[in-house]
Amino acid sequence: MSKYHHIKQIAYEANMQLPKLGLVLFTFGNVSTADRELGVFAIKPSGVPYKDLTPEKMVIVNFDGEVIEGTLRPSSDTLTHAVLYKHWEAINGIVHTHSTYATAWAQSQRDIPIFGTTHADHLTTDVPCAPPMSDELIEGNYEYQTGFQILNHFQENGLDYKEVEMILVGSHAPFTWGKTADKAVYNSAVLEAVAQMAYLTEQINPSAPRLKDALVNKHYQRKHGPDSYYGQ
Ligand SMILES: [Zn+2]
Repeated sequence: MSKYHHIKQIAYEANMQLPKLGLVLFTFGNVSTADRELGVFAIKPSGVPYKDLTPEKMVIVNFDGEVIEGTLRPSSDTLTHAVLYKHWEAINGIVHTHSTYATAWAQSQRDIPIFGTTHADHLTTDVPCAPPMSDELIEGNYEYQTGFQILNHFQENGLDYKEVEMILVGSHAPFTWGKTADKAVYNSAVLEAVAQMAYLTEQINPSAPRLKDALVNKHYQRKHGPDSYYGQ
């Protein structure tokens, strides 16, 4: 058995969650999961329908984007995953989807405002939207540069990738991440729900107020404060 079997199995199971959660159509979307000791991640192969996926079909890639093991071509977004793993050492799972509502906000090139406590339970800032890629970056190594577009947006806006585990890439779609592949998938589903709620909120009341600071702070402290009581 391959010494990478454990991450292939995790990546397979996490990828299979995407259609179940209604986050992907056809072959859209991909999940990867890293093994930091081995210095590699397992990612979905490119263009294989979910029903035909198996753990063995997952492709093993290093953090420079080089294929280490596998016969199929890795997801076309592999270099974006590689860049994020290389620079953000605390993450072990990454998800990319074109889920409908999150993608609609990305195409609108807008941050998703923090309107309510559902959002605040997961992150206490707006969901950031990075600007669309410049022509120069698109014509260069596009997927590789998408990774840097994400890193740069976090750096320029003083965001912490451990606090904000999601981003919209303008004109494209969301990426989410987490300590595990499961957490990254969970974040993708949460992002889609929050994106839908924010869309409906603006439909019902175009001048709906953002969540007030007292509630933002309360939710932040619930998770992070000395008296945190969120979760087990
Ligand atoms: Zn995409």
